[in-house]
Amino acid sequence: MTTFTKDLLAWFQEHGRKNLPWQSSPPNIYHVWLSEIMLQQTQVAVVVDYFNNFVIKFPTLAELANAEEEKVLTSWAGLGYYSRARNLHKSAKIILSEYQGIFPTDYSELIGLPGVGKSTAGAILSLACNQSRPILDGNVKRVLSRYHRVTGHYSDSKVLKELWQLAKYHTPSKHNASYTQAIMDLGATTCAPRNPLCSKCPVSRNCKAYLCNDQASFPHKKTRSIRPEKSLAFLAYRNEKDEIYLLKRPNKGIWGGLWSFAECEDNDAAISAAIKKHNLKASIVSYLPKFKHNFTHYRLWIRPIIINSPGLAKDYHNINKLTLGVPAPVKKIISALDSLGCVESNE
Ligand code: SF4
Repeated sequence: MTTFTKDLLAWFQEHGRKNLPWQSSPPNIYHVWLSEIMLQQTQVAVVVDYFNNFVIKFPTLAELANAEEEKVLTSWAGLGYYSRARNLHKSAKIILSEYQGIFPTDYSELIGLPGVGKSTAGAILSLACNQSRPILDGNVKRVLSRYHRVTGHYSDSKVLKELWQLAKYHTPSKHNASYTQAIMDLGATTCAPRNPLCSKCPVSRNCKAYLCNDQASFPHKKTRSIRPEKSLAFLAYRNEKDEIYLLKRPNKGIWGGLWSFAECEDNDAAISAAIKKHNLKASIVSYLPKFKHNFTHYRLWIRPIIINSPGLAKDYHNINKLTLGVPAPVKKIISALDSLGCVESNE
């Protein structure tokens, strides 16, 4: 066992997180898997409530597998990266049909499930089955980059390979569940992205970045590329019954499978043409302030436009009884619409 691992395990006994809702004795692999998928791009503090609500709606893997995709996406709405929810649902169906509902604990089988990569498979098997498997999530990359002063950003395959080697090197052959939780906890609570708490860190005595006093330089930054920006008008059509028009988005692309407003290019000609095409009797009521939504590869500027659209009912939904999965920016606009009250008909 390396000194790093010994120091970390000793620290975990006293400081590790042991009361997260997906931690139980014995571990429930379904809960561990759900939490690991939710944690892929989201912090623990946000995941806790989503996890608790999710397991109330889908207490077992079979209930998740047999649920409508719409219900799964609705329960995920707000967490972002919706492909995670679709992959979770697909995986549950695969486990039910191909593994008789028994969660696979073989690494090669687990990694074959949609949405389960090397690090997620390692985390699930370590935490739920105490198998000796390395993990390399964002927290671990940061800890190891600092501890070993790894040069270069991990988007470079050589750097990533080096980090995986280091992750394997430190992974113990026993106490693996504790070690895995410990290294994740260290990254989340102590070796934070900004202002790491090195004076309280259990591995500081051998941390190269700490000893060189250049922790802030690690992990090395990726050479920045400027994120492109796009602009769209979101057309919030409301009929005289205070219902809003929502469309189901295609499964591929942003917010796949979720429900959203009609949209068009953000210019007067395109907006006017789209409104006419939708309903000749429609008229603009007001423009809400434009706001920005960040995707990994670009920024989207959204201009919400409230439109009075009398006489139509098809695909219009009551906003007070909405059970559809909608992405966060759409939810935000719906809340604003709600506070504005009902729009009167032009007729
Ligand atoms: S000593 Fe500081 S930089 Fe090094 S691992 Fe600990 S918290 Fe991170």
